[in-house]
Amino acid sequence: MSELSNALQTRYRSDVCGSLRASDAGRVVRLAGWIHRRRDHGSLVFIDLRDRYGIVQVVVDAAVAPEAHAALTDARIEWVISVEGGVALRRAGTENEKLPTGAVEVAGTKVEVLSRAKTPPFYINEPDAPIDESVRLKHRYLDLRREPLRDRLLLRSQMVQAIREVHHAHGFVEVETPILIKSTPEGARDFIVPSRLQPGSVYALPQSPQQMKQLLMVAGFDRYFQIARCFRDEDLRGDRQPEFTQLDLEMSFVDEGGVRSFVEQMVIDVTKRTRPDRPIQQLPFPVFTYDEALERYGSDKPDLRYGLELIDLGAALPATTGFKVFDAPRASGGRVRTIRVPGLGGLPRSQINDLTERAKRYGADGLVWISLQEDGEVRSPIAKFLSAEATTALWSATGGTTVAAGGDLLLIVAGERVRSAEVLGRLRVEVAGEIGLADPDILAFCWVHRFPMYQWESESGRWDATHNPFSAPVPEHRDLLTTSSGDLARRSAGDPAGGALAQQYDVVLNGWELGGGSIRIHDRELLERSFALMGHSLDDARAKFGALLDAFEYGAPPHGGIAIGVERWAALLAGQTNIREVMAFPKTQSGSDLMLEAPSEPDPSQWSDLGLSVRRPTGGVTGAKKDA
Ligand code: ASP
Repeated sequence: MSELSNALQTRYRSDVCGSLRASDAGRVVRLAGWIHRRRDHGSLVFIDLRDRYGIVQVVVDAAVAPEAHAALTDARIEWVISVEGGVALRRAGTENEKLPTGAVEVAGTKVEVLSRAKTPPFYINEPDAPIDESVRLKHRYLDLRREPLRDRLLLRSQMVQAIREVHHAHGFVEVETPILIKSTPEGARDFIVPSRLQPGSVYALPQSPQQMKQLLMVAGFDRYFQIARCFRDEDLRGDRQPEFTQLDLEMSFVDEGGVRSFVEQMVIDVTKRTRPDRPIQQLPFPVFTYDEALERYGSDKPDLRYGLELIDLGAALPATTGFKVFDAPRASGGRVRTIRVPGLGGLPRSQINDLTERAKRYGADGLVWISLQEDGEVRSPIAKFLSAEATTALWSATGGTTVAAGGDLLLIVAGERVRSAEVLGRLRVEVAGEIGLADPDILAFCWVHRFPMYQWESESGRWDATHNPFSAPVPEHRDLLTTSSGDLARRSAGDPAGGALAQQYDVVLNGWELGGGSIRIHDRELLERSFALMGHSLDDARAKFGALLDAFEYGAPPHGGIAIGVERWAALLAGQTNIREVMAFPKTQSGSDLMLEAPSEPDPSQWSDLGLSVRRPTGGVTGAKKDA
């Protein structure tokens, strides 16, 4: 018996259900678990007994063990029992190859009922049955008994264990940072917690441990990590939850290359330990600048499992085509780009209209399509604008004359540089999903870096940080952190700051942003300049991030780090598209815990203890909806 099996022994069990094999035949064992299935054959009762390690068949014969048999007469699924009996090889022909324990059964001689169960609201023993998610969430403890969710939580646990091992092996120190803190600079809305001891004051729950980890660098812990719970009060989507977990890490005396090289190795190690069966598409991870990712994939989180790259048609089109949809954006610096989808040349008009509607919803003025047929024919509502030369130029710009069976479809979006690329990028992902271009087994990681440092906020006349306000510019753009006038208080859209790139990097997996981080500004003078561009005086900034700014005056090492979404990573490794599927007790889209019925009204005395009273909003909270 393995060391682990020994450790699992208690007075209720000598073995776990999933561990018994042919080599155990002849042993007398004691097992404890849930009745997964029960079949009554008169004097013989068959039970599939389940624990988290697996299932084993138990058979109780009234002729051999009348008391044990009697104990099971009214037993139902999901009762908890313990059984003692001998392990026997199953009769030839009755083995169950689908079960790892399928070569044996336990001939039960003693049965003890440990707990009875009501009929569950859904079958635990039908892992593939579709069940309404709200029912699963309300009875999550039952859903967790089911094989798929159990396996995903086990995978997540394995992943987190691997994360810890790899970090410890590389000299990282695991530090827990507080949950009741002051606002962090991640830019979402904070959850706040009123203080009873200091009425009128609140704590914020951390959106991330960002300030704390930087303070740990100032404190000299040159390699920190934490499996950190983060809280962001934002509108929820499939890959977001109000509370979630990040692998948060920070390193001192490193540059961008140093952080990325550790993180890449760690991500590979953890991934391979967790899913050794899933191939990683490319090593080392490909690296794109933000601009390149946008140009080629229309996204800062490109899915590299398929090509379908964006193609700029500028050079293939004549300077003016006579077609306003192309000419107008090009005259004002915009672009005309396409993706060439193989095999979709015969897509029905209704589906093309649907794609057009989506393009408009994502912010395009419209969508132009051209279908290239195998016989050389070109079909399109704009065919009349295309001369023979223009058509030939289009064919060669988009990859030549070889056309997939069924013809190829060019989806073209014209417009402002970033917007038009992003619209096409979204269509690229959706179309690839719809025609099944991505191999679901492959893990395609990449890095995207050199993001713009700031974006211009015309209303407030300031340069807002695109990521966090402590991200440093790339070394060669340090001098761009200024305004055209030289006066940091007189900012305008044309300032050199607009061209500065940040030492900001994202790690991407199969089209999801797995995590992001940056090298931080640790030099006070540069930080002051950056804050001024963001429209904050140092005093303003001190009111928000005082501790960090103070700490920087006591000797701050160069440092940088990253945070990786644990749920996103686990979901992708588990082949899921929703992070709730790798969370034990997730919340709904409107932030409810259906099992605990949270959030809930507090006891009136809790309000008064906090010195608070509630005025009910008449129209409800903007954007909020209650779960059914
Ligand atoms: N704190 C950042 C975030 O949560 C990550 C980082 O820059 O390390 O996105």
